[in-house]
Amino acid sequence: MCTTPHPDARDAAERFLATNPGDPATYQRVAALEDDAVAMLGELAGLGDPTGYVASGGTEANIQAVRIARERADSPRPNVVVPESGHFSFQKAADVLEVELRLVPTDDDHRVDLEAVRASVDTDTALIVGVAGTTEYGRVDPIPELGRIADSVGALLHVDAAWGGFVLPFTDHEWHFGHAAVDTMAIDPHKMGQAAVPAGGLLARSDELLDELAVDTPYLESTAQATLTGTRSGAGVASAVAAMEALWPDGYREQYVRSQHNAEWLADALEKRGYEVVNPTLPLVAATVPRATFDALRAKGWRISRTATGELRVVCMPHVTREMLASFVGELDRLEVR
Ligand code: PLP
Repeated sequence: MCTTPHPDARDAAERFLATNPGDPATYQRVAALEDDAVAMLGELAGLGDPTGYVASGGTEANIQAVRIARERADSPRPNVVVPESGHFSFQKAADVLEVELRLVPTDDDHRVDLEAVRASVDTDTALIVGVAGTTEYGRVDPIPELGRIADSVGALLHVDAAWGGFVLPFTDHEWHFGHAAVDTMAIDPHKMGQAAVPAGGLLARSDELLDELAVDTPYLESTAQATLTGTRSGAGVASAVAAMEALWPDGYREQYVRSQHNAEWLADALEKRGYEVVNPTLPLVAATVPRATFDALRAKGWRISRTATGELRVVCMPHVTREMLASFVGELDRLEVR
């Protein structure tokens, strides 16, 4: 789910490669850039006074969101309620942080089943997770309803918009801080944001939440650190700012429209050939293609992947062009192994 960085992002990454925002008192320029990155991410995500940092990716942001919730939980055995469509990073978070992971099923449209969420929460629930742009089907969970359920049991609400965060501002979905009582969010510049890897984003509604992550830093000039990693390259921070300065909002909007049209074109082409296709509500196409066809396409060099249930999965990232997709469909026709 990564893509070719925007030229400005590539250039900024090179210039800031040897800086370390983990030591902000020494690397002041990149530390200031990180403030800019958080401010811009907040604008995308409907958060007026944002706090957060540029993480190594969605995995770190999700782990840290679970950590914040665990620190605030008033329970010796806190649990975290996650849709089964949630990214596997929540499994890592549960393992590392020793919280109980309660996976809840999704409905026929691959969105979390709200009744199942209601049945899973209790007074030990520290966090409910909603996904805004699922990894496999690009679905957006009903975030406002999840917020109400979280409120009812005193839990926090985390939105994983790691992939969707840079396309959802141009849709009607209710996904961000302005739409619901969201507490934390993962939103990754290095995916649809066209920044260089590594550039993830963790946002929190308040300093008080982010402070749950702060540990003292005795040998540094700064006093506390909230990130999971210590030393980290400033390349991600600088490239995130450069990409957002170049593309927000018009460039991202144009890219979303292009990617969405591509996804709809591919879905239509596959449907016409008799494959069962999951309607692409965001720029991601999943279709039931025989395993032999999938393997043959991989063998020809197509970098396609599969969902957990075995469907072909094509993510229409910015580097994926209509010509590429047409050539892919041509290959599919030539294979004729169905
Ligand atoms: N969350 C979602 C929704 C994702 O799709 C992904 C990765 O594809 C992640 C989290 C993890 O992100 P990363 O691989 O940058 O750690």
